[in-house]
Amino acid sequence: MALHQAKICIGCWQQMHVPVPLRGVLSVPFRMVGIRPSRMNPNTCTICELMFTKVMRARKVSIDATIMFADLRGYTSLSQSLSPDAMSGLLDTFYDECASAIWEHDGLLNKTIGDAVMAVFNFPIRRPDHAKQAVLAAREIQERCRAKRDSLMGTLGMSGTELGVGIGIDTGQISFGEFGRSHRDLTAIGTVVNTASRAQSAAQAGQILVTPSVRERAAPELSGSQAQDYRLKGFESAIELYAA
Ligand SMILES: [Zn+2]
Repeated sequence: MALHQAKICIGCWQQMHVPVPLRGVLSVPFRMVGIRPSRMNPNTCTICELMFTKVMRARKVSIDATIMFADLRGYTSLSQSLSPDAMSGLLDTFYDECASAIWEHDGLLNKTIGDAVMAVFNFPIRRPDHAKQAVLAAREIQERCRAKRDSLMGTLGMSGTELGVGIGIDTGQISFGEFGRSHRDLTAIGTVVNTASRAQSAAQAGQILVTPSVRERAAPELSGSQAQDYRLKGFESAIELYAA
């Protein structure tokens, strides 16, 4: 499925009702002054990235959002058998598949950290059902990566059973803005971010683990899922997670 390519920035339209052309002839003058599709989500623009300082006049905002971490497992163990080129190709494929799945569900691919990606849903494109969108994107990442892995391992004549993606999702209030003095980084921080990251580390390859708040908000997508207790590093008590 190809990504729906919006003609105007969905973020700017939703937040300010200003049509900012992203593609075609009308976008040319905008591109000349540096306004172009965002690399975090091509249906939003670079104004959206700068919205805090330039438009909202705030360094950060508190928003209701869903955070997803997806981590490629078994990747480093392949470095014995694959060339450096093949290794970086594998990582690129993983990032690309994650990006497509995230963008199809209106999420923002906020950053890549080593073999993991972090996505934000409900910013700058608003979706009241952002928790559900994150779950659907996670399932799509699993599906896409499984298919890629099987064809890749077939080509290499290897078994790639260890290779897989672990995903964690949490939802709630996060702080979104530019953090850091020397290196300004547009990102999300808060308990929800930490919990999503830890849920991801508890997930096994091929698994998606979500918090009770995601389950509640993404219902009925997860109605059949049973809670399990997980002890996570840095958390005193065990937390309940649901397999999605
Ligand atoms: Zn925009």
